[in-house]
Order: sequence, then C-alpha cells, then structure tokens
Amino acid sequence: MTMGSDMTETIGAGFLVRWLAAVAEDVDREADRLTELDSAIGDADHGANLRRGFAAVTETLAKEPPASPGAVLTAAGRQLISTVGGASGPLYGTLLRRAGKALGEDGEVTRERLAEALGAGVAAVAQLGGAQVGDKTMLDALVPAVEGLRSSYGAARAAAEEGALATVPLQARKGRASYLGERSIGHQDPGATSSALLFAALADTAVAEGAA
Ligand code: ADP
Ligand code: MG
Repeated sequence: MTMGSDMTETIGAGFLVRWLAAVAEDVDREADRLTELDSAIGDADHGANLRRGFAAVTETLAKEPPASPGAVLTAAGRQLISTVGGASGPLYGTLLRRAGKALGEDGEVTRERLAEALGAGVAAVAQLGGAQVGDKTMLDALVPAVEGLRSSYGAARAAAEEGALATVPLQARKGRASYLGERSIGHQDPGATSSALLFAALADTAVAEGAA
C-alpha cells in the first residue's frame, strides 16, 4: 500500500452501501458519546437521532440495493430525512441526496468525483442551514473533509477529525447550541463529531476495499 494508491480505484454502489453500514455501526458504538456532547450544548438526542437514522438507512439499502453509487446516496438521504426528527436528519439527508444527484446514474465513480459530489452536498447543507465554517456546526468538519478527500481518504479523515476538535473553543452561531451564547464555548459540537465519524468510516471502508 503506497500513498496515492487509491488514485485509480473506482467506487461502485456496493462500496457506498458498505460505507453507510460502517457509519451505522460507528454511530451505534459512539451514540452515548454523541448524546453526551449534545446534552452539554443541545437537547441530548444526537446519538439517538443518528442511531435511528442510519439503522433505517442500512435496512433500506439491504432490502433494495440501488444499482448505482448516486442512487445509494439518494436513497440514504431520503431515508434520513424521513426518519430523523432533529436538525441533523434534514441536514445529513440533504448532504447525501444532493451528492447522489451530482453522481447521476454512473455505475462507477472515482474518489475525485465523490469528493466533488459531496462538495455539492456540503454546499446544499450550508444553504439549508444558513451556516458557514466557524459557526460551530457539522460544516466545521464537513468542509475540510471534502477538501481533504480530493487528495486521499486518509486526508479526509484527518481533516474531519481536526475540524471537529476545532469547534471546542468556538461560540455556536447556528442551531440549538447558539441559544447558549458564550456558554457554548468549551464544548465539542455533536454534529461536527458525527461528521468526523462519517469520514473515518469512509477511510476504513476504502482500506477494506483495497482502495486506499
Ligand atoms: P437538534 O439540534 O434538532 O436536536 P441534533 O441534535 O440531531 O438535532 O443535531 C445537532 C447538530 O446539528 C449540531 O451539533 C450541529 O452540528 C448541527 N446543526 C444544527 N443546526 C445547524 C445548521 N443551521 N447548519 C448546520 N448544522 C447545524
Ligand atoms: Mg439535539
């Protein structure tokens, strides 16, 4: 395995189904931590919201496996929107649906195209939630992660983790945590933390598939 060995590996529908199954597992394992973070600056439901959402995603994809990478992301996004009541459901749902739309019907895509598609998804999240980097939201992890994915899966994972950690000293300007004003300072944002899980699972999946 060498740096950049994933340049030529392509991503099919199965790869993305296995990614989302890995996300469901990671979210399940980390649900208590996500809820703890959300109890400090929110309403203590982020772990439960995502556990319910990604379990439903996994079930849907297993029942009716979509034929293309784009269709996988579109189906997953739709499921998140209909299953998760909190802010994170529509936001993550929009991320995946918009990315799915950007991938179209192609049967195989490159990592670079996935990065581009997720970039379109992240832009849609910013538009829907009216937030930008520095507002202490999931965007603080998503924006650098997608940028990192242009280089490698490992870079995406590291950038997302760094972005999530960087939310600690910030004051929240969007979402429930913003109601706390200065008291939101000193806590890691739950959504940025779950976004880092998404990209850690993507890097793990790439390694398991021999794509990184
Ligand atoms: P809720 O806030 O409705 O309880 P969750 O607890 O599931 O929903 O998700 C909270 C997370 O959602 C926050 O930590 C933040 O990262 C993200 N979030 C909230 N509002 C916004 C927004 N306007 N833009 C981007 N992300 C947001
Ligand atoms: Mg919450």
